[in-house]
Amino acid sequence: MTDNTVGTRSGRTEIRLSREDGFALSSIVDRRSGFNWIQEPAGPGLWRLVGTDHKGESKAINSRDARASLLSESDRRISLGFEGPQGLKVQVGVQAQPGDLVLWHLAVLNLGSLAEVERLDFPCLADLALPPGDSELSYLAVPFEQGVLVRDPGSTVFSNKDANFRLSGSYPGNYSMQFVAYGCGCGAGLYFACHDPSGCAKRFTMERDGNGHIVFYIGNHLADPSIPSALPYPVAVATYEGTWLDASRIYGKWALKQKWCSRGRLLRGATQGWLQATPAWVWNRGRAACVVPDAEKLSDYLARPAALDWYWWHGNPYDTMLPEYFPPRDGEEAFRKAIRRLHERALRCIVYINGRCCDLESAHFSDAAAVKKRTGEVETETYCKYTGARLAVMCPGTEHWKGELSQIVSHLVESGLDGVYIDQVASAPPKACFSASHGHPRGGCLAWAEGNRALLSTARSVARARNPDAMLCSEGCCEVYIDLLDAFLTLSPSYERMGMFRSLGDAWEPIPMFNSVYHEFVVTFGSYASLDNPPYDELWPPREAVDEADLSQHTDQFDLEVARCLVFGQKPMIANFHPSQLVRARMKESLRFFKEVCLLHECLEDYLVRGRYLGSPDIRVPSVQVCCLSKGIYTLLGQSRITVRTVPSVLASSWEASDGSIAIVLANVSSQPHRVCLDLSQLGIAGKASLYRVDPRGDACSTRQSLGKSITIRGKHVVGLKTA
Ligand SMILES: [Zn+2]
Repeated sequence: MTDNTVGTRSGRTEIRLSREDGFALSSIVDRRSGFNWIQEPAGPGLWRLVGTDHKGESKAINSRDARASLLSESDRRISLGFEGPQGLKVQVGVQAQPGDLVLWHLAVLNLGSLAEVERLDFPCLADLALPPGDSELSYLAVPFEQGVLVRDPGSTVFSNKDANFRLSGSYPGNYSMQFVAYGCGCGAGLYFACHDPSGCAKRFTMERDGNGHIVFYIGNHLADPSIPSALPYPVAVATYEGTWLDASRIYGKWALKQKWCSRGRLLRGATQGWLQATPAWVWNRGRAACVVPDAEKLSDYLARPAALDWYWWHGNPYDTMLPEYFPPRDGEEAFRKAIRRLHERALRCIVYINGRCCDLESAHFSDAAAVKKRTGEVETETYCKYTGARLAVMCPGTEHWKGELSQIVSHLVESGLDGVYIDQVASAPPKACFSASHGHPRGGCLAWAEGNRALLSTARSVARARNPDAMLCSEGCCEVYIDLLDAFLTLSPSYERMGMFRSLGDAWEPIPMFNSVYHEFVVTFGSYASLDNPPYDELWPPREAVDEADLSQHTDQFDLEVARCLVFGQKPMIANFHPSQLVRARMKESLRFFKEVCLLHECLEDYLVRGRYLGSPDIRVPSVQVCCLSKGIYTLLGQSRITVRTVPSVLASSWEASDGSIAIVLANVSSQPHRVCLDLSQLGIAGKASLYRVDPRGDACSTRQSLGKSITIRGKHVVGLKTA
């Protein structure tokens, strides 16, 4: 039989394309197991392009519409040409790399009859197989903020109408990195990534298409949509053996060489000592008269100074009239006095601002600096359901917006604050900007990341000029800003509360995917864990109806979120803390658990702040169900939802410090004691170990002892182990 394919191979990965079928993918074979990830050449072919012609009409062209030819072929590289229709010319290269990677390149050589290329889906991995073996053990891991693992994606995503048969996310934004991992319980996995050092806007989509095929593709954009050019980065495909963590390690080999890591502040010791040592964060909202004493009371309870992330300090109603923060709602003098009072108690304080939106009604709004849609309209968004304020998305690199943000940061740091939390910048999906006057190509893929990097860089210079020890942080986490921020407020531990991934039922869980690559390069902190219902801003219109579901009944959910912070290597954070919670029955217990987590985190700072994530040890423990309520500040009457989650009763992770020593943290989120069996020699802790527990008085203590094969953890307690 004649082989009608052409291909290349790299380590364990072999890729073949069908000559007869317009060079559609015919196989991605794992050469060790022999498993072929492609069922048969199908779907749109290798690439799909959406553009507009000179009359402004939309055109969709895929590689099957073009005349394909093999330009060159060697053991390590295939080069393909695609011509037509109407003069369009595309060239594709498939290049084997050392290791198991195969890199894919694409260049548009001639736009033909098109005026612009809006989007280029490439490569289309069409008609992907389901992972081999037990479907219940198969997974799809995506870098949504910290990361999300979806189990049995064949059923829970690709056959799920409520999920639109797909998972999809934008980078740089809600996808914090540029890879996904798709694999099975028996170890076979498929790695799909971009190795883009510039942070170009792109979208990863994994879906079952209208023809019933599972297709993974990346929606790319040209640097200038109206000029023929090569995509400024390759796409990488590899087969691997292991779990999502092994895919992280493949990615890490590339990612840790990028500019954001070589200048990463934590690893080179430039991150503020106080930030690294802060044992706990409190995220409270309102006037100084409440927020300041509440932070002090929490610090008294912890016997350590908590750091305050202060919301609703500003003169404008929340998410309304941005960025008219000044004067602060208590007045300038009272605001500064509040900061001084916190400092007298050794408490650190940063405040919230938004780094991306400007109210159309604000005097600070400049139409000329806003993100423009293709039609020329301003891109707007509304968050506040009570004021309905229309906010413009500002183009981040414009001089106007950089100037606005710098003035605000300068004013705040000059007020005595220890830093500024800049909302949205690291987490919001990129918006293509079609302004012709911003100095970036209209609709170009680089404007978002480059603009935000310029914005943060300017803000950092301004903050450091006022106070070299001031920190800047943003919402979510995103690799392309690691060198410009000191910390990321990462809310993945609280996704049930935020109503995320609800369409996937109980089939998903947050995982520390970002920290598995970047933990030792930047501080991550946070959860949205709250024991009380969300507050209502006094500056909003009077409230009409309140959703009656009561978060105070969901202390197990709080405990789960706090435990996830610990095992993800994020600094613990409590939201909406009030001292009355210290004496309310179930809340009291949850606060004790929070304190244990903070103290253990502090004892193991070398691992949980600056260490390398080694994974989640294989501990066989029973599952426990946690009843979670999704309810936030914008949840209207009747909109809160309860979901019952099934989670391991003990969460665990292991870490390596820079001296090579190992630590393990275990958090029992159930009410029952559990005996956990640990293979200590496999985990790198053989013989004697230091065992950390927090005693009933609230002191962390360690004992050096020989450990057996198992350890018992009481219900709602945490334990740490480290190499003796
Ligand atoms: Zn722009």
